[in-house]
Amino acid sequence: MTQHTDVLILGGGISGCTAARFLRRPWLILERDNVLGGLSNQYQSQKYWFDFGGHYFHFQHSPAIFPHITGVTPFRLYRRRSRVWMFESLIPFPLQSHLDFLPPHYRQKITSELAEAGSTDKATLATQLNSRFGPTLYQLFFLPFLSKYYRRDLNELVPGLERGSIPPPASSQGQEKPEQTEQGYNPEFYYPAGGLRLFWRHYTSSLMPRVHLNEPVMAVDLARRRVETSRRTYGFTHLINTIPLPHFLSMLRGFRHDPELPRQLRHTTTRVTNLVLSQRRRRFHWVYLPARDHPYYRMGYYPAASVCKAYLEQTLPEHNALGDSEPDYSGLLRQLGVIKDPDEIVHVSHRDIPIGYVLFDALWFRKVPATIKRLRQQGVFSIGRYGGWTYSSMAADALAAMESALLINRDKA
Ligand SMILES: Cc1cc2nc3c(=O)[nH]c(=O)nc-3n(C[C@H](O)[C@H](O)[C@H](O)COP(=O)(O)OP(=O)(O)OC[C@H]3O[C@@H](n4cnc5c(N)ncnc54)[C@H](O)[C@@H]3O)c2cc1C
Repeated sequence: MTQHTDVLILGGGISGCTAARFLRRPWLILERDNVLGGLSNQYQSQKYWFDFGGHYFHFQHSPAIFPHITGVTPFRLYRRRSRVWMFESLIPFPLQSHLDFLPPHYRQKITSELAEAGSTDKATLATQLNSRFGPTLYQLFFLPFLSKYYRRDLNELVPGLERGSIPPPASSQGQEKPEQTEQGYNPEFYYPAGGLRLFWRHYTSSLMPRVHLNEPVMAVDLARRRVETSRRTYGFTHLINTIPLPHFLSMLRGFRHDPELPRQLRHTTTRVTNLVLSQRRRRFHWVYLPARDHPYYRMGYYPAASVCKAYLEQTLPEHNALGDSEPDYSGLLRQLGVIKDPDEIVHVSHRDIPIGYVLFDALWFRKVPATIKRLRQQGVFSIGRYGGWTYSSMAADALAAMESALLINRDKA
Protein backbone atom coordinates (compact mmCIF):
# COMPACT_ATOMS: atom_id res chain seq x y z
CA MET A 1 0.00 0.00 0.00
CA THR A 2 1.21 3.49 -0.82
CA GLN A 3 1.61 5.91 2.06
CA HIS A 4 0.99 9.50 0.94
CA THR A 5 2.63 12.56 2.47
CA ASP A 6 2.60 16.18 1.36
CA VAL A 7 6.40 16.69 1.58
CA LEU A 8 8.78 13.78 1.30
CA ILE A 9 12.35 14.49 2.40
CA LEU A 10 15.10 12.18 1.13
CA GLY A 11 18.03 12.14 3.57
CA GLY A 12 18.20 13.29 7.18
CA GLY A 13 21.42 15.32 7.35
CA ILE A 14 21.46 19.01 8.25
CA SER A 15 19.64 19.90 5.02
CA GLY A 16 16.79 17.40 5.40
CA CYS A 17 16.33 18.00 9.14
CA THR A 18 16.41 21.80 8.86
CA ALA A 19 13.79 21.68 6.12
CA ALA A 20 11.62 19.51 8.37
CA ARG A 21 11.98 21.96 11.27
CA PHE A 22 10.58 24.80 9.13
CA LEU A 23 7.85 22.94 7.28
CA ARG A 24 4.27 23.73 8.28
CA ARG A 25 2.76 20.97 6.14
CA PRO A 26 2.81 17.21 6.71
CA TRP A 27 6.27 15.79 5.96
CA LEU A 28 8.27 12.58 6.33
CA ILE A 29 12.04 11.95 6.29
CA LEU A 30 13.44 8.79 4.69
CA GLU A 31 16.96 8.12 5.93
CA ARG A 32 19.26 5.28 4.87
CA ASP A 33 21.32 5.18 8.09
CA ASN A 34 20.28 4.28 11.60
CA VAL A 35 20.80 7.87 12.83
CA LEU A 36 20.06 11.37 11.61
CA GLY A 37 22.76 13.97 11.03
CA GLY A 38 24.57 12.68 7.95
CA LEU A 39 28.11 13.94 7.62
CA SER A 40 27.73 16.57 10.30
CA ASN A 41 27.01 14.07 13.07
CA GLN A 42 29.62 11.86 14.77
CA TYR A 43 30.46 8.15 14.67
CA GLN A 44 31.77 5.84 17.35
CA SER A 45 35.06 3.96 17.32
CA GLN A 46 35.52 1.90 20.48
CA LYS A 47 34.72 4.27 23.34
CA TYR A 48 35.44 7.45 21.33
CA TRP A 49 33.12 9.63 19.26
CA PHE A 50 34.59 11.42 16.26
CA ASP A 51 33.44 13.98 13.70
CA PHE A 52 33.96 13.19 10.01
CA GLY A 53 36.97 15.53 9.76
CA GLY A 54 36.93 19.15 10.86
CA HIS A 55 33.28 20.22 11.02
CA TYR A 56 32.85 23.79 12.25
CA PHE A 57 29.89 26.07 11.74
CA HIS A 58 30.63 29.23 9.75
CA PHE A 59 27.83 31.77 9.74
CA GLN A 60 29.69 34.56 7.96
CA HIS A 61 27.73 34.08 4.72
CA SER A 62 24.52 32.70 6.27
CA PRO A 63 23.74 34.93 9.28
CA ALA A 64 19.97 34.41 8.91
CA ILE A 65 20.23 30.81 10.15
CA PHE A 66 22.51 31.63 13.11
CA PRO A 67 19.80 32.00 15.80
CA HIS A 68 18.02 28.85 14.69
CA ILE A 69 21.13 26.66 14.93
CA THR A 70 22.77 28.17 17.98
CA GLY A 71 19.49 28.42 19.89
CA VAL A 72 19.27 24.65 20.20
CA THR A 73 22.24 23.97 22.48
CA PRO A 74 25.12 26.17 23.72
CA PHE A 75 27.79 26.97 21.16
CA ARG A 76 31.33 28.29 21.62
CA LEU A 77 32.92 30.88 19.39
CA TYR A 78 36.50 30.23 18.21
CA ARG A 79 38.78 32.75 16.54
CA ARG A 80 40.49 30.79 13.87
CA ARG A 81 44.13 29.87 14.39
CA SER A 82 45.05 28.14 11.15
CA ARG A 83 48.58 27.65 9.90
CA VAL A 84 50.53 26.47 6.87
CA TRP A 85 53.41 24.05 7.49
CA MET A 86 56.21 25.28 5.30
CA PHE A 87 59.97 25.81 5.65
CA GLU A 88 59.81 23.67 8.84
CA SER A 89 57.61 26.26 10.50
CA LEU A 90 53.97 27.09 11.18
CA ILE A 91 53.08 30.16 9.14
CA PRO A 92 49.73 31.89 9.80
CA PHE A 93 47.12 31.47 7.06
CA PRO A 94 46.58 32.98 4.53
CA LEU A 95 50.18 33.03 3.36
CA GLN A 96 49.79 36.09 1.15
CA SER A 97 49.07 38.17 4.24
CA HIS A 98 52.05 36.82 6.18
CA LEU A 99 54.94 37.17 3.81
CA ASP A 100 57.18 38.31 6.69
CA PHE A 101 57.30 34.64 7.71
CA LEU A 102 58.83 33.55 4.40
CA PRO A 103 62.53 33.59 3.45
CA PRO A 104 63.45 37.10 2.11
CA HIS A 105 63.97 35.87 -1.45
CA TYR A 106 60.38 34.59 -1.69
CA ARG A 107 58.96 37.57 0.16
CA GLN A 108 60.40 40.07 -2.33
CA LYS A 109 59.35 38.09 -5.38
CA ILE A 110 55.81 37.48 -4.14
CA THR A 111 55.35 41.10 -3.07
CA SER A 112 56.31 42.41 -6.48
CA GLU A 113 54.20 39.79 -8.27
CA LEU A 114 51.16 40.60 -6.12
CA ALA A 115 51.64 44.31 -6.88
CA GLU A 116 51.69 43.52 -10.60
CA ALA A 117 48.69 41.17 -10.54
CA GLY A 118 46.21 42.73 -12.91
CA SER A 119 43.12 41.32 -14.49
CA THR A 120 42.48 37.72 -13.56
CA ASP A 121 42.62 34.99 -16.17
CA LYS A 122 39.64 32.80 -15.32
CA ALA A 123 40.08 30.10 -17.97
CA THR A 124 41.01 27.38 -15.45
CA LEU A 125 41.67 27.20 -11.72
CA ALA A 126 45.41 26.99 -12.51
CA THR A 127 45.48 30.12 -14.70
CA GLN A 128 43.21 32.01 -12.32
CA LEU A 129 45.36 31.38 -9.24
CA ASN A 130 48.53 32.04 -11.21
CA SER A 131 47.34 35.42 -12.39
CA ARG A 132 45.66 36.38 -9.12
CA PHE A 133 48.52 35.49 -6.74
CA GLY A 134 51.54 35.43 -9.08
CA PRO A 135 53.62 32.42 -10.19
CA THR A 136 55.81 32.19 -7.07
CA LEU A 137 53.02 31.90 -4.51
CA TYR A 138 51.15 29.62 -6.90
CA GLN A 139 54.11 27.22 -7.19
CA LEU A 140 54.98 27.45 -3.51
CA PHE A 141 51.54 26.86 -2.01
CA PHE A 142 48.44 26.71 -4.22
CA LEU A 143 49.70 24.18 -6.75
CA PRO A 144 51.09 21.57 -4.32
CA PHE A 145 48.30 22.06 -1.78
CA LEU A 146 45.36 21.98 -4.20
CA SER A 147 46.88 19.11 -6.18
CA LYS A 148 46.63 16.99 -3.03
CA TYR A 149 43.25 18.41 -2.03
CA TYR A 150 41.55 17.91 -5.41
CA ARG A 151 43.82 15.14 -6.78
CA ARG A 152 43.23 16.59 -10.24
CA ASP A 153 45.18 18.62 -12.72
CA LEU A 154 44.16 22.18 -11.82
CA ASN A 155 43.91 22.90 -15.54
CA GLU A 156 40.88 20.59 -15.66
CA LEU A 157 39.05 22.61 -12.99
CA VAL A 158 37.15 25.85 -13.47
CA PRO A 159 37.28 28.62 -10.85
CA GLY A 160 34.31 30.42 -9.40
CA LEU A 161 32.71 28.00 -6.97
CA GLU A 162 35.48 27.47 -4.46
CA ARG A 163 33.90 30.65 -3.03
CA GLY A 164 35.61 31.92 0.12
CA SER A 165 37.97 28.99 0.46
CA ILE A 166 40.80 30.79 -1.34
CA PRO A 167 40.99 34.33 0.03
CA PRO A 168 41.81 36.91 -2.66
CA PRO A 169 44.70 39.32 -2.01
CA ALA A 170 43.71 42.44 -0.07
CA SER A 171 45.00 45.88 -0.99
CA SER A 172 47.41 45.77 1.99
CA GLN A 173 48.67 42.41 0.81
CA GLY A 174 51.86 41.22 2.37
CA GLN A 175 52.08 44.02 4.90
CA GLU A 176 49.93 42.75 7.71
CA LYS A 177 51.42 42.36 11.15
CA PRO A 178 51.61 38.93 12.73
CA GLU A 179 48.91 39.78 15.27
CA GLN A 180 46.41 40.45 12.47
CA THR A 181 46.70 36.84 11.54
CA GLU A 182 43.18 35.56 11.40
CA GLN A 183 41.69 37.51 8.51
CA GLY A 184 40.82 35.82 5.25
CA TYR A 185 37.96 33.42 4.84
CA ASN A 186 35.94 32.36 7.90
CA PRO A 187 38.00 34.18 10.54
CA GLU A 188 35.82 32.68 13.25
CA PHE A 189 33.76 29.57 13.71
CA TYR A 190 31.29 28.04 16.10
CA TYR A 191 31.09 24.56 17.52
CA PRO A 192 28.54 23.04 19.96
CA ALA A 193 29.97 23.19 23.48
CA GLY A 194 28.92 19.58 24.11
CA GLY A 195 30.00 18.30 20.68
CA LEU A 196 28.05 17.61 17.49
CA ARG A 197 26.30 14.53 18.86
CA LEU A 198 24.63 16.53 21.62
CA PHE A 199 23.63 19.19 19.10
CA TRP A 200 22.00 16.53 16.93
CA ARG A 201 20.12 14.98 19.84
CA HIS A 202 18.46 18.34 20.58
CA TYR A 203 18.06 19.41 16.95
CA THR A 204 16.13 16.29 16.01
CA SER A 205 14.26 15.33 19.21
CA SER A 206 10.95 16.81 18.00
CA LEU A 207 11.34 15.29 14.53
CA MET A 208 11.71 11.63 15.42
CA PRO A 209 8.05 10.53 15.13
CA ARG A 210 8.09 11.43 11.44
CA VAL A 211 11.48 9.93 10.56
CA HIS A 212 11.95 6.52 8.96
CA LEU A 213 15.49 5.32 9.69
CA ASN A 214 17.26 2.41 7.97
CA GLU A 215 15.14 3.03 4.90
CA PRO A 216 17.26 3.68 1.79
CA VAL A 217 15.47 5.22 -1.16
CA MET A 218 15.82 3.00 -4.23
CA ALA A 219 13.68 4.56 -6.95
CA VAL A 220 11.92 7.86 -7.61
CA ASP A 221 9.18 8.25 -10.20
CA LEU A 222 8.46 11.90 -10.82
CA ALA A 223 5.66 11.29 -13.30
CA ARG A 224 3.68 9.22 -10.78
CA ARG A 225 4.99 11.17 -7.72
CA ARG A 226 6.16 7.95 -6.07
CA VAL A 227 9.27 6.95 -4.10
CA GLU A 228 10.23 3.35 -3.45
CA THR A 229 12.36 2.26 -0.54
CA SER A 230 13.49 -1.16 0.61
CA ARG A 231 10.20 -1.43 2.53
CA ARG A 232 7.34 0.31 0.75
CA THR A 233 6.08 2.93 -1.70
CA TYR A 234 5.40 6.54 -0.77
CA GLY A 235 3.37 9.12 -2.65
CA PHE A 236 4.22 12.83 -2.37
CA THR A 237 3.19 16.26 -3.55
CA HIS A 238 6.53 18.02 -2.91
CA LEU A 239 9.94 16.37 -2.85
CA ILE A 240 13.09 17.59 -1.08
CA ASN A 241 16.16 15.68 -2.16
CA THR A 242 19.47 15.79 -0.24
CA ILE A 243 20.89 12.50 -1.58
CA PRO A 244 23.97 13.15 -3.77
CA LEU A 245 22.76 14.35 -7.16
CA PRO A 246 24.40 11.57 -9.24
CA HIS A 247 22.75 8.88 -7.08
CA PHE A 248 19.43 10.69 -7.18
CA LEU A 249 19.50 11.10 -10.97
CA SER A 250 20.42 7.47 -11.49
CA MET A 251 17.31 6.33 -9.60
CA LEU A 252 15.00 8.89 -11.19
CA ARG A 253 12.24 8.05 -13.67
CA GLY A 254 9.87 10.49 -15.35
CA PHE A 255 12.56 13.17 -15.75
CA ARG A 256 14.47 13.69 -18.98
CA HIS A 257 18.22 14.00 -18.55
CA ASP A 258 21.40 12.77 -20.19
CA PRO A 259 21.81 9.20 -18.87
CA GLU A 260 25.60 9.72 -18.88
CA LEU A 261 25.37 12.67 -16.49
CA PRO A 262 25.49 10.76 -13.17
CA ARG A 263 28.80 9.18 -14.20
CA GLN A 264 30.21 12.45 -15.52
CA LEU A 265 29.78 14.42 -12.30
CA ARG A 266 33.19 14.62 -10.59
CA HIS A 267 34.00 14.61 -6.88
CA THR A 268 36.73 13.70 -4.44
CA THR A 269 36.76 10.82 -1.97
CA THR A 270 38.09 11.84 1.42
CA ARG A 271 39.77 9.68 4.01
CA VAL A 272 39.74 11.01 7.55
CA THR A 273 42.23 9.54 10.01
CA ASN A 274 40.94 10.29 13.48
CA LEU A 275 43.25 10.15 16.46
CA VAL A 276 43.13 10.31 20.23
CA LEU A 277 46.34 11.79 21.62
CA SER A 278 47.58 11.61 25.19
CA GLN A 279 48.21 15.38 25.28
CA ARG A 280 47.84 18.55 23.23
CA ARG A 281 51.18 20.09 22.32
CA ARG A 282 50.08 22.70 19.74
CA ARG A 283 47.57 25.55 20.04
CA PHE A 284 46.54 25.95 16.38
CA HIS A 285 43.13 24.70 15.29
CA TRP A 286 44.29 23.25 12.00
CA VAL A 287 47.27 23.34 9.66
CA TYR A 288 47.43 23.10 5.85
CA LEU A 289 50.03 20.71 4.51
CA PRO A 290 51.27 21.50 0.98
CA ALA A 291 54.40 19.24 1.12
CA ARG A 292 54.42 16.66 -1.65
CA ASP A 293 56.14 13.87 0.31
CA HIS A 294 52.92 12.63 1.98
CA PRO A 295 49.24 12.66 0.90
CA TYR A 296 47.69 14.51 3.88
CA TYR A 297 46.49 18.01 3.07
CA ARG A 298 45.22 19.06 6.49
CA MET A 299 45.70 18.17 10.12
CA GLY A 300 43.67 19.64 12.97
CA TYR A 301 42.43 19.32 16.52
CA TYR A 302 38.76 18.76 17.27
CA PRO A 303 37.28 21.44 19.51
CA ALA A 304 35.29 20.88 22.69
CA ALA A 305 36.57 17.40 23.54
CA SER A 306 37.35 16.14 27.01
CA VAL A 307 40.29 14.17 25.62
CA CYS A 308 42.66 15.45 22.94
CA LYS A 309 41.24 14.39 19.55
CA ALA A 310 42.80 15.23 16.21
CA TYR A 311 42.31 14.41 12.54
CA LEU A 312 44.25 14.12 9.32
CA GLU A 313 42.52 14.47 5.96
CA GLN A 314 43.59 13.14 2.58
CA THR A 315 41.96 12.76 -0.81
CA LEU A 316 42.10 9.22 -2.11
CA PRO A 317 43.30 8.53 -5.66
CA GLU A 318 40.37 8.41 -8.10
CA HIS A 319 40.25 4.75 -9.08
CA ASN A 320 42.54 3.34 -6.49
CA ALA A 321 41.37 3.05 -2.92
CA LEU A 322 44.31 2.74 -0.56
CA GLY A 323 42.78 -0.17 1.31
CA ASP A 324 44.11 -0.40 4.81
CA SER A 325 47.67 0.67 4.06
CA GLU A 326 48.34 4.06 5.54
CA PRO A 327 51.23 6.48 5.03
CA ASP A 328 53.48 7.35 7.98
CA TYR A 329 51.24 9.77 9.86
CA SER A 330 53.13 9.37 13.10
CA GLY A 331 56.34 10.72 11.45
CA LEU A 332 54.32 13.64 10.10
CA LEU A 333 52.78 14.39 13.52
CA ARG A 334 56.27 14.37 15.02
CA GLN A 335 57.51 16.83 12.39
CA LEU A 336 54.59 19.14 13.18
CA GLY A 337 55.36 19.00 16.91
CA VAL A 338 51.93 17.45 17.57
CA ILE A 339 53.54 14.43 19.24
CA LYS A 340 57.04 13.74 20.52
CA ASP A 341 56.71 10.00 20.59
CA PRO A 342 54.39 7.55 18.72
CA ASP A 343 53.22 6.26 22.14
CA GLU A 344 51.27 9.51 22.49
CA ILE A 345 48.83 8.16 19.86
CA VAL A 346 46.23 6.41 22.00
CA HIS A 347 43.68 5.40 19.34
CA VAL A 348 43.33 5.60 15.54
CA SER A 349 40.23 5.27 13.37
CA HIS A 350 39.99 5.70 9.59
CA ARG A 351 36.77 6.76 7.85
CA ASP A 352 36.27 7.11 4.11
CA ILE A 353 33.78 9.68 2.86
CA PRO A 354 32.89 8.44 -0.65
CA ILE A 355 31.81 11.91 -1.80
CA GLY A 356 33.76 14.64 -0.03
CA TYR A 357 34.05 17.63 -2.36
CA VAL A 358 32.31 18.34 -5.63
CA LEU A 359 34.76 19.20 -8.43
CA PHE A 360 33.89 22.09 -10.68
CA ASP A 361 34.82 21.46 -14.30
CA ALA A 362 33.38 22.82 -17.54
CA LEU A 363 30.69 20.12 -17.55
CA TRP A 364 29.47 21.21 -14.09
CA PHE A 365 28.78 24.71 -15.38
CA ARG A 366 27.05 23.39 -18.50
CA LYS A 367 24.86 20.80 -16.81
CA VAL A 368 24.34 21.15 -13.05
CA PRO A 369 22.56 24.53 -12.61
CA ALA A 370 20.22 23.71 -15.52
CA THR A 371 19.39 20.27 -14.08
CA ILE A 372 18.67 21.67 -10.60
CA LYS A 373 16.44 24.32 -12.18
CA ARG A 374 14.49 21.76 -14.22
CA LEU A 375 14.00 19.59 -11.13
CA ARG A 376 12.64 22.62 -9.33
CA GLN A 377 10.15 23.23 -12.14
CA GLN A 378 8.86 19.72 -11.43
CA GLY A 379 8.42 20.38 -7.72
CA VAL A 380 11.75 18.88 -6.58
CA PHE A 381 14.06 20.89 -4.33
CA SER A 382 17.45 19.21 -4.74
CA ILE A 383 19.41 20.95 -2.01
CA GLY A 384 22.44 20.75 0.28
CA ARG A 385 26.06 20.31 -0.63
CA TYR A 386 25.41 16.95 -2.29
CA GLY A 387 21.79 17.22 -3.43
CA GLY A 388 22.63 20.64 -4.93
CA TRP A 389 26.04 19.29 -6.10
CA THR A 390 27.95 22.36 -5.00
CA TYR A 391 30.46 23.74 -2.50
CA SER A 392 28.65 24.80 0.65
CA SER A 393 28.86 24.71 4.42
CA MET A 394 26.50 23.27 7.05
CA ALA A 395 25.17 26.78 7.74
CA ALA A 396 24.61 27.52 4.04
CA ASP A 397 22.89 24.15 3.63
CA ALA A 398 20.65 24.82 6.63
CA LEU A 399 19.74 28.25 5.25
CA ALA A 400 18.92 26.83 1.81
CA ALA A 401 16.78 24.16 3.49
CA MET A 402 14.91 26.78 5.50
CA GLU A 403 14.25 28.82 2.34
CA SER A 404 13.01 25.73 0.49
CA ALA A 405 10.64 24.87 3.35
CA LEU A 406 9.26 28.42 3.42
CA LEU A 407 8.59 28.30 -0.33
CA ILE A 408 6.82 24.95 0.01
CA ASN A 409 4.75 26.30 2.92
CA ARG A 410 3.50 29.08 0.63
CA ASP A 411 2.85 26.83 -2.36
CA LYS A 412 -0.81 26.39 -3.32
CA ALA A 413 -0.45 22.74 -4.40
C1 LIG B 1 35.96 16.35 5.07
C2 LIG B 1 34.83 17.35 5.15
C3 LIG B 1 34.95 18.43 6.02
C4 LIG B 1 33.92 19.36 6.12
N1 LIG B 1 34.06 20.40 6.99
C5 LIG B 1 33.06 21.28 7.12
C6 LIG B 1 33.18 22.37 8.05
O1 LIG B 1 34.17 22.52 8.76
N2 LIG B 1 32.14 23.23 8.15
C7 LIG B 1 31.00 23.11 7.39
O2 LIG B 1 30.10 23.93 7.55
N3 LIG B 1 30.87 22.11 6.51
C8 LIG B 1 31.87 21.20 6.34
N4 LIG B 1 31.73 20.17 5.46
C9 LIG B 1 30.51 20.13 4.62
C10 LIG B 1 29.34 19.51 5.38
O3 LIG B 1 29.65 18.18 5.75
C11 LIG B 1 28.12 19.52 4.46
O4 LIG B 1 27.89 20.83 3.98
C12 LIG B 1 26.85 19.02 5.16
O5 LIG B 1 27.11 17.95 6.02
C13 LIG B 1 25.85 18.58 4.11
O6 LIG B 1 24.65 18.22 4.76
P1 LIG B 1 23.49 17.54 3.93
O7 LIG B 1 22.39 17.29 4.87
O8 LIG B 1 23.19 18.33 2.72
O9 LIG B 1 24.14 16.16 3.42
P2 LIG B 1 24.53 14.87 4.28
O10 LIG B 1 25.07 15.24 5.61
O11 LIG B 1 25.38 14.04 3.37
O12 LIG B 1 23.12 14.16 4.51
C14 LIG B 1 22.50 13.41 3.49
C15 LIG B 1 21.76 12.27 4.14
O13 LIG B 1 21.18 11.48 3.09
C16 LIG B 1 21.26 10.10 3.47
N5 LIG B 1 21.16 9.27 2.27
C17 LIG B 1 22.07 9.09 1.29
N6 LIG B 1 21.60 8.24 0.37
C18 LIG B 1 20.35 7.88 0.77
C19 LIG B 1 19.34 7.03 0.23
N7 LIG B 1 19.50 6.35 -0.92
N8 LIG B 1 18.17 6.92 0.91
C20 LIG B 1 17.95 7.59 2.07
N9 LIG B 1 18.89 8.40 2.63
C21 LIG B 1 20.07 8.55 1.99
C22 LIG B 1 22.64 10.01 4.14
O14 LIG B 1 22.72 8.87 4.98
C23 LIG B 1 22.68 11.32 4.93
O15 LIG B 1 22.17 11.18 6.23
C24 LIG B 1 32.75 19.23 5.32
C25 LIG B 1 32.63 18.14 4.45
C26 LIG B 1 33.67 17.21 4.36
C27 LIG B 1 33.54 16.06 3.41
